[in-house]
Amino acid sequence: MKRVYNFSAGPAVLPEEVLEEAAEEMLDYRGTGMSVMEMSHRSAAFQQIIDEAEADLRDLLQIPDNYKVLFLQGGASQQFAMIPMNLMKNRVADYIVTGQWAKKAWQEAQKYGKANKIASSEDKTFSYIPDCSDLPISEDADYVYICENNTIYGTKYKTLPNTKGKLLVADVSSCFLSEPMDVEKYGIIYGGVQKNIGPAGMVISIVREDLITDDVLEGTPTMLKFKTHADAGSMYNTPNCYCIYICGKVFKWLKKMGGLQAMKERNEEKARILYDYLDQSKLFRGTVEPASRSLMNVPFVTGDKEMDAKFVKEAKEAGLENLKGHRSVGGMRASIYNAMPVEGVQALVAFMKKFEEENC
Ligand SMILES: *Cc1c(COP(=O)(O)O)cnc(C)c1O
Repeated sequence: MKRVYNFSAGPAVLPEEVLEEAAEEMLDYRGTGMSVMEMSHRSAAFQQIIDEAEADLRDLLQIPDNYKVLFLQGGASQQFAMIPMNLMKNRVADYIVTGQWAKKAWQEAQKYGKANKIASSEDKTFSYIPDCSDLPISEDADYVYICENNTIYGTKYKTLPNTKGKLLVADVSSCFLSEPMDVEKYGIIYGGVQKNIGPAGMVISIVREDLITDDVLEGTPTMLKFKTHADAGSMYNTPNCYCIYICGKVFKWLKKMGGLQAMKERNEEKARILYDYLDQSKLFRGTVEPASRSLMNVPFVTGDKEMDAKFVKEAKEAGLENLKGHRSVGGMRASIYNAMPVEGVQALVAFMKKFEEENC
């Protein structure tokens, strides 16, 4: 068996220990005589899996008691609609558009009310985070929306926007659990788990309790009301059981690794290795303004499309997979999520150095 270093933006690398444990438990989960995939979601064994997953997540992020943790389907993209449907009481919301995902969320919200784009970094291909210290926040905005880490363009907010007292809603899909967060600063934090936590097919939404009401937009489907899922402990219908199980194992792995502060330090070290190399390279350069750089997604280019393609091909042959940039931006992107070991980043930089010597 051979494992590669997988730099995919998502679905993405998972901790090897978690995969091994899941493999061991595949045919007989802890004496139940069946796999978690075959188990009733109403069984005691599964109830324990979901309860422990929630408790460990609460522990990791220090989630206050007045926030609910929801394990939902439909991916992060479903939240683009679910958030306005549940929160847009005045039918007004402010969006900061710093990339493709924020833009999609903003466009979706326009179906339900007045979605204002109050700031954007599209003028420079989303290569920076705009100054958000004094934005024209709408008087009657139901919330202010951000995408905290931009998976495609590789930017990250280093300070949260000044929302002038309005509720903050954040898509954290690609930085979820990469560092500690102050949950109380947000009304909703949500993320698709396939980037930094688990397999595809689930979104975790952490929602402040007072935002979970029956007062939703008319016509909101039962399945798209936060209250439906909050009242049923994320088991109104059959949840994504296997995904919850794997996420739960990842939460335990994160705790064992020392929690989110330790992950932050580890992630900073990995990112530093790659950015330091990029900053002095004569062949490659990073595409993001240094002050806005993400710790998770690192886009870079040579400036020559053929050279980029040659690099991606030769890197793959060397066991460094999925380095091709997003189809909308080209170039390369290394996603170095929690589960990417420092050795993977070192191997990437060593390969880049060698490639630079051969091609420069
Ligand atoms: C991947 C991604 C999404 C979309 O996730 P799906 O689960 O495929 O809907 C949304 N936002 C961000 C920041 C992402 O990285």
